[in-house]
Parts: sequence; structure tokens; C-alpha cells
Amino acid sequence: MTAPSITPDTISLIGNTPLVLLKGPSEAAGAEIYGKCEFANPGASVKDRAALWIVRDAEERGVLQPGGTIVEGTAGNTGIGLALVANARGYKSVIVMPETQSREKMDTLRALRAELVLVPAAPFSNPGHFVHTSRRIAEETEGAVWANQFDNIANRRAHIESTAPELWEQMEHRIDGFTCAAGTGGTIAGVGLGLKAFDENITIALTDPHGAALYNYYANGELKAEGSSVAEGIGQGRITANLEGAPIDTQFRISDEEGLYWVERLLADEGLCLGLSSGINVAGAVALAKQLGKGSRVATILCDTGFRYLSSLYNPEWLKAKGLPVFPWLEQ
Ligand code: PMP
Repeated sequence: MTAPSITPDTISLIGNTPLVLLKGPSEAAGAEIYGKCEFANPGASVKDRAALWIVRDAEERGVLQPGGTIVEGTAGNTGIGLALVANARGYKSVIVMPETQSREKMDTLRALRAELVLVPAAPFSNPGHFVHTSRRIAEETEGAVWANQFDNIANRRAHIESTAPELWEQMEHRIDGFTCAAGTGGTIAGVGLGLKAFDENITIALTDPHGAALYNYYANGELKAEGSSVAEGIGQGRITANLEGAPIDTQFRISDEEGLYWVERLLADEGLCLGLSSGINVAGAVALAKQLGKGSRVATILCDTGFRYLSSLYNPEWLKAKGLPVFPWLEQ
């Protein structure tokens, strides 16, 4: 057994996450389905990578000076990543978040020393939307930089330069397919571009939740959303700069119930406590592996930890209020 090596600082703990064979999903698909353990990042989500690349990019461009401030609008995970990178590099962070996001994310951001600004949930066309609010705060704050994760392609570069090569090595250069959902689109576009550069025959599939517009866009060119989802951090209604040119070969639409099914199974049978976007990704990976055929090797992203959703996904009252099934062991 080789123990992981000592890292010189917290920043170096970002990335190089383990890859786990998911037994139940593999059996269901008659394939090998692997989950990239992004909950193992120091901020417990895939967004630590984007946060680090965005901060490094701003430093390299000379727009972020020592003692400066990083401002961002986020569903929470990018804010957590930015707050910890900011602390480690001597910056302040201001995080704007819709008040509909989980209580745990708000508490975590406050605990991490971020200045938290909560705004009502609003459509992107509304000037009060969290993204526009964060841009305005950045413009009005001396020495501040707007991270702009949706349209700043340093986000997807994180996945071209780290997630994709890690997957390629971990899967010993044998990958038939990759799929995940899109929030900013940084992960699907970056891993897609990165993997295609290694082997253009790898099938890249978008897994879209209900309520997002990308499934229709990739299926028939129309940006049209149908239904809704309670999943946090995913579900995009436009082609962000990160999504431009993403090499999407095929697409799946997954319901919250299907995603919750895999959250429940992975927790009860394999001891993995995940958020709903991970469950939706796994459902997409099962669909992709079935399409690619017996014995295919498919990877997906386990985006964040379920501990971030104890007051929602793992709370019977919350689930019932949303009309969603309750995990049986929560009813005791
Ligand atoms: N899952 C969760 C829980 C997230 O917070 C995010 C980021 N918004 C994603 C998935 C999607 O990642 P990306 O922004 O790279 O599309």
C-alpha cells in the first residue's frame, strides 16, 4: 500500500481525487461505472477546481492583487471553493447566493469567513438575479475581481487540465463514455474536451435534470426547459461561454426520482453519502452504459457530499413537502 504524499499547502489538496467503482450501477447496466470522488476535495465539491483555476487566472492577469477581494454569485459550492482558496492566498471573499439554497451551504460559507449576500431566487433576465448582483458588487468594490464562473473559461480549463487527465490515467486509457450534468457547464465541457483530446471515440453525454434547457438544445437545437428539479447546482437555461463548443455526442434527461433512487442505493448499499446532482449523474451513467453496451466503461462525477443536504435531501419533512419519496430508514 502506498500512502498519499505530503502536500505543501491546502491548495495542493485540490484535485487528484479517487475514482470508485460503483457496484450497484455497474450491475444495473451490465457495465463498469466509475464515480470521480469530488466530495474528497477540501471544500467537499467539484467546484474547488474551478475556484482555484479562476483565482490563478486572475492572479496571472494581474487583476487580483494581495489583499484583494473575490466576488461571486453561486449556488454555494463555488463560493465554498473560492472562500477557502481566498483564505489560503490572502484574499477576502464576497459570495452572493439565492436564498433557496441549502442551509448547510450558507452556514459553511459564513464559517469559512466569506461575506454572504442572500438574494431572492429570480430568473436570469431579472437584474436582481444572483449573477448580476455579484457583478455589480464586484464593480462597486475597490480591489475586487468578479469570478464570473459561468462565462469565465478558466472554469472549464480546470477540467481540461486536471479532471480529464486524471480520469484518463485512472482508467488506464480505456474509457468508452463520460457523462455529467451542467450548472456552469465547466465540468461537462472541460472533461469532454480533455478526454476527446486523448481519444476522440469516447462518447460524451450530457445528463440534464428536468427544468433545464440543454437536453432540448442538444437534441433538437431548441433551448427549451420542461418540468422542474430540486437538485442544487445544476440545470442551465442558456449556452454559457463554458458550454460553447462542448463536444456533446448524446443526451439524457433524468428526473429527481431517478436521481434519488441512486442516492438511496449508493448510501444504503455502498456507504456513499452524496448530493442529488451526483445521483442524477449516476442515473445518466447507467443510461449511457446501457446504450454503449455490455462491459462498457463509463465515468461520471460524484459532485459533492450529502452532508451538505442534511436539512433537505435527508430530512423527511422537506422531502414530503416537495412530494418526493423518503428514504425508509429516515422514517423510524
Ligand atoms: N453539482 C453540484 C452540487 C454543483 O454545485 C455544481 C456546480 N454548480 C455542479 C454539479 C455542476 O458543475 P458545473 O458548474 O461544472 O457544470
